[in-house]
Amino acid sequence: MRFDIITIFPQMLGSYLGESLLGRAQKNKLISITMHNLRDGAKDKRLTVDDAPYGGGPGMVMMIEPIAKTLKKIKRRKKSKVILLDPAGKQFSQKIAADLSKLDQLIFICGRYEGIDARVDKLADEKISIGPYVLSGGELGAGVILEAVARLIPGVLGNKQSLNEETFNYRPSKIGNKKSKVDTEYPQYTRPKIFIHTHGSKKKKLHVPKVLLNGNHKEINKWRQKHSK
Ligand code: SAM
Repeated sequence: MRFDIITIFPQMLGSYLGESLLGRAQKNKLISITMHNLRDGAKDKRLTVDDAPYGGGPGMVMMIEPIAKTLKKIKRRKKSKVILLDPAGKQFSQKIAADLSKLDQLIFICGRYEGIDARVDKLADEKISIGPYVLSGGELGAGVILEAVARLIPGVLGNKQSLNEETFNYRPSKIGNKKSKVDTEYPQYTRPKIFIHTHGSKKKKLHVPKVLLNGNHKEINKWRQKHSK
């Protein structure tokens, strides 16, 4: 899958996108990520991409022309979507991530300042918000969506099973004849079996639930299902 990010800060997400799972996915050619500097689409020598709002008001508004020009330069795959990062857009979810992961290409438009000239709506297929709060730019949002989508692409996660049992996706193996679907993953534990938690002068032993230590997978499955929400 190909990801393109249009931004005035093309370096901003660099090390995050180059490390760990996303870094590996790029090395293994499962995904590609290209940053596009919006200033390359500017018309003037000063590489201006924003201007004062018509009608007055605080701050600057990003101009539509550099965005349109940059979009035109991006080679499009057959199944592609342009996503505008917008705090007032559709709230991002695992379901949206799953739908987007079926495409061949996602192009993100990251706003800054007071936002983008509203006519940008005509250039985008979807307006997505990563949460009901306002950030200073769309770059983190693009990174969030990109990562949530990329980990659903076959081969990106080392262990396919991780996806099946994950929060929002958990499908525990059949218990009896009952198939179930729950929203949040069961609690996970690892070594040590007993952790001594010190709080001021008090010490408390925190144990791993016994059922997880006995190797009885039917019992473990039952416990996990009970503790998923
Ligand atoms: N003036 C705008 C408003 O009141 O809605 C806020 C603009 S914000 C400072 C600048 C840019 O950050 C937005 O154009 C958008 O691209 C991005 N952004 C901010 N919060 C976001 C969120 N929750 N989800 C997605 N993008 C966001």
